[in-house]
Amino acid sequence: MDIFHDPHDFQVSSNQWREAGETVGFVPTMGALHEGHLRLIDAARRQCDRVSVSIFVNPAQFGPNEDLAAYPRTFEADRAACARRGADAIFAPAPEAMYPPGFQTAIRVEPMSLSLCGHSRPVHFGGVATVCLKLFMLARPTRAYFGWKDAQQLLVLRRMVADLCVPLEIVGVETVREPDGLAMSSRNAYLTPGERAEAPRIHAGLRAAAEAFGAGERDTTKLEAIAREPIEQCPLMRLDYLEARSMDALERLQTAEPGNTLLAAAAFIGKARLIDNVRF
Ligand code: AMP
Repeated sequence: MDIFHDPHDFQVSSNQWREAGETVGFVPTMGALHEGHLRLIDAARRQCDRVSVSIFVNPAQFGPNEDLAAYPRTFEADRAACARRGADAIFAPAPEAMYPPGFQTAIRVEPMSLSLCGHSRPVHFGGVATVCLKLFMLARPTRAYFGWKDAQQLLVLRRMVADLCVPLEIVGVETVREPDGLAMSSRNAYLTPGERAEAPRIHAGLRAAAEAFGAGERDTTKLEAIAREPIEQCPLMRLDYLEARSMDALERLQTAEPGNTLLAAAAFIGKARLIDNVRF
């Protein structure tokens, strides 16, 4: 497995694969890898000749009072996990390599970046879109793999790829959960044992709403209320948002994925802001 820190070196290697006619699967991450990330690598491994993984805590997607400095960085463990899951290359650039002096380009995918998580994180998806387009230029992927855990991110990137005719497919991979339902996240490491015990309430509410939908409930206000209840009953948690959205309306793309309604939530608990969603 090759490890690249320099963007140019990584791009040369990616180009060589493509010029040899190989398909490339690319998994962009911020590191602190857990089983959720590794399932993206597995999916890429199954579907592509070559697999590259980027590990980059992207400053441009963090707001001024967010957790950029505190974000966990575990490169050695990440490297070993990527090797075990059969990745061919890791790209782990320094921030200055991705944003050298004079850098001034930004991608905006609006208005869909301003709803849901965009309310409390107005710069977030612009930063994600900009870094992902740059990473795509370096990784030259045939397919790029993203988790449905970050559903809005996946939809924003699909929109960007369609709008700018970026020649790759964005593949969505289902959310990987802890046995009690909590969506795996690098940010779960911020939770105290007491907070960790309450955190599955987010998924419990979303699941209860999905079950109500399955039983015939179609009133989105009622579905949102069902999902909100377990979060609002917990004194350790503060709801950021919980909203049902039509995915077609959000990204204005036809999607082949099952389920068209996205019920998405974000909640603060201790030092963490956790997100989760269900589709139905
Ligand atoms: P991050 O390192 O948090 O930026 O995540 C990198 C990629 O892993 C994104 O596409 C995420 O959606 C995906 N991911 C993170 N957590 C999970 C999870 N629990 N299940 C599936 N994918 C995930």
